[in-house]
Amino acid sequence: MRDARDLCQMVGIPAPRGMNAGERDFPVFVPRGYIARMRHGDPNDPLLRQVLPLAAEGDSVPGYSCDPVGDVAAAVAPGLLHKYSGRVLIVATPTCAVHCRYCFRRHFPYAEDGKFFHDWQPALRHIEADRSIREVILSGGDPLTIVDERLAELARRLAAIEHVTRLRVHTRVPIMIPERVTDELIGWLRGTRLTPILVLHVNHAQEVDEHVGRALARLIDAGIPLLNQAVLLAGVNDNLAALVALSERLVALRIMPYYLHQLDPVAGAAHFEVDHERGAELVEQMRAQLPGYAVPRYVCEVAGAANKLPIV
Ligand SMILES: *Cc1c(COP(=O)(O)O)cnc(C)c1O
Ligand code: SF4
Repeated sequence: MRDARDLCQMVGIPAPRGMNAGERDFPVFVPRGYIARMRHGDPNDPLLRQVLPLAAEGDSVPGYSCDPVGDVAAAVAPGLLHKYSGRVLIVATPTCAVHCRYCFRRHFPYAEDGKFFHDWQPALRHIEADRSIREVILSGGDPLTIVDERLAELARRLAAIEHVTRLRVHTRVPIMIPERVTDELIGWLRGTRLTPILVLHVNHAQEVDEHVGRALARLIDAGIPLLNQAVLLAGVNDNLAALVALSERLVALRIMPYYLHQLDPVAGAAHFEVDHERGAELVEQMRAQLPGYAVPRYVCEVAGAANKLPIV
């Protein structure tokens, strides 16, 4: 679905006023399977809120910028970010299966790196030359929008670099399009010498229906560890019941909650902000209700820091 008005009609709500403010620079893009998991007629549905542009996106808010986490400064080769010790992140593609309104890369200058998406060579040369790099993260955009043949080829070339031992994939595709979990995908993830780790992005339990659950179970049954990162979002999951339900749902599916991210201050997303104090209070309340492994680490990203910073 690529039109905000059609989306509203499909879920049976009136179109919010002024929503084209955000649509212009970051168009609506949502798979129909995801829309089917929304509650009909509810403008506050937690899934709908993640994808429906609002007039507030046009507000200019101090502190909110186009490059909130210093991605531009961290680029060491076209499409390659090296911020943290031992691991690098490949911005493998500008394409996603969905446009999340709070996306921290909604203004990422993908076009300037356009050439890279056809040529991994400069990134691979950098990885090869730096023996401290143990782990390569495929991100984007969403790497699983790339066909398996190309991904398998990239995995082969990374595996040929002796000091690389782990291959991590950051993806929301299995949540948006569970049919993407194919035998070919599992085949190259398991076929590589590298240890595969898949990090999902789920913010609300309602995003994981039975169909998605079955796709994720296939990955886990194949021996691929699954972690989840969520973003703390006002009006989506900023209450104890939603956060506990998310962790319970993930753990029931054998997925470990990894990070709960503080919203990155990206221009157009200020209406999703939950302040640190409230976030820390929610996580403390989660800790009182759940086993330790079901409580994600609440973190924020600060440009120039040596790692994601814990918030307590
Ligand atoms: C978040 C991020 C990572 C991964 O950090 P972990 O704490 O290992 O999950 C790596 N590189 C970049 C550029 C990142 O933004
Ligand atoms: S899936 Fe991730 S990268 Fe893609 S729009 Fe959503 S938050 Fe951004």
